[in-house]
Amino acid sequence: MRSAQDTRQAASEIVADLRRILAARGGSIRIMEVCGTHTVAIFRAGLRQILPEGIELVSGPGCPVCVTADDYIDAAIAYAGMADVIITTFGDMLKVPGTHASLAEAQAQGADVRIVYSPLDALTVAAGNPSKQVVFLAVGFETTAPTEAAAVLAAEAQGLRNFFLLSAQKLVPPVMRALLDGGETHVDGFLLPGHVSVVTGTDAFAFLTQDYHIPGVVGGFEPLEILRALQMIVRQIGAGEAHIENAYETVVRREGNPVARAAIDRVYEPAAVRWRGLGEIPASGLVMREEYAAFDFARVRPLTLAAVGDGRNGCRCGEVLRGAIVPRDCALFGRACVPEHAIGPCMVSVEGTCAAWYKYGGGK
Ligand code: SF4
Repeated sequence: MRSAQDTRQAASEIVADLRRILAARGGSIRIMEVCGTHTVAIFRAGLRQILPEGIELVSGPGCPVCVTADDYIDAAIAYAGMADVIITTFGDMLKVPGTHASLAEAQAQGADVRIVYSPLDALTVAAGNPSKQVVFLAVGFETTAPTEAAAVLAAEAQGLRNFFLLSAQKLVPPVMRALLDGGETHVDGFLLPGHVSVVTGTDAFAFLTQDYHIPGVVGGFEPLEILRALQMIVRQIGAGEAHIENAYETVVRREGNPVARAAIDRVYEPAAVRWRGLGEIPASGLVMREEYAAFDFARVRPLTLAAVGDGRNGCRCGEVLRGAIVPRDCALFGRACVPEHAIGPCMVSVEGTCAAWYKYGGGK
C-alpha cells in the first residue's frame, strides 16, 4: 500500500506534468465529470485547488436525484398521499422539492414513506404488507437499473403482485451526446463515470471520439486515480488526440458487465425521457417493457398532473447540470438556498454540484 508521502509525491508529479502540457499547448482545458460521486470526491480531496491554472473542472448531469424532473417528484408525492400505498425510496429523494412539497413533508403529514437501501428491501416491505401497494422510486443511472430489474424478476418469481417501480431511470451516454449537440456546453474532455462504466463498458463512450473528437477516460474515485485519469485526458488533448481510455482497469472492462445489461434489457427498454434542465432526450431513459407493465405503477395507477417547468423560484439547477453556469452564478446560492433550506435538488442531494460547492467552499 502506498504511503501518504508517496501519494503526495505521485500527485505532485502529475500536477507538474499537467503544467508542462499546458505550457506547451497554451490556452485552457475544460474537463467535465458526469458522475456525482466524482464531483464529491474531487471537492473532498481539494483537487480543484491543486490543479494548475488553465485546467477547469466542470460538473455535468451526474447526480440522479438532481436530473429528475419535478413532475416525477409530484407524482411520487401524489401516490404517497393514497391510503393504500407505501412509497419506498433511497434517502436522498426525501427532501427534494416538488412543485408544492417534498416527500419528507408528505411523510410528516402522515404519508407512508420509507427509506430503503435497495429495491430488494422494498420487496420485503411488499411481502410484509400484502394489503398495500408498495412502490419503489427507481431513480438512477445504469448503476442501479440492474438491481431494480432483479427486484422485478424476484417479485414475479415470488408471485408478489403488490410490488411496483415508479421508474425515472436514465442513461448517461445519451445525455452526454445531448449536451454536446446543444452547443451550450463547451468541453475538451470527459472524466467518464467509473460506476456506470462497470455496467456499460468503455465501448459505450466510443461516440465521443468518433462523432466529436473528444477524449474520455474512465476514472476511479481515489484522489490519485482521479488525477491519473485527468492526466490521461490532458495528455490526449495536448497531443491533439481523442481516445477512450480506462484508468479504472481493476473494475471496468471494455465490454462492461453483460449479465447486468441482460437483466436491464429483460425488464426495461430505452425511451425518450425528460431531464431537468435538458428537456426530453431521445433514448435517454429506461421504461418497463410491456411484459412487466403489471409492475409499473405509472401504468397500473396512471395520474394526470399539471405540467410543471424547471427553474421555479429562481433555481438555476438545470443550467448547473448542463455546465452552463457554476453554482456561485446562482443568486440564491449560499443565501436563500443552503442544504438546510434547499430551493433546488442540486443543493439537496449529497452528490449535487451546489451542495458540493457549498460544503467544500466552491473550489476554484
Ligand atoms: Fe438551484 Fe440552489 Fe443551486 Fe441555485 S444554489 S441552482 S437555487 S439548487
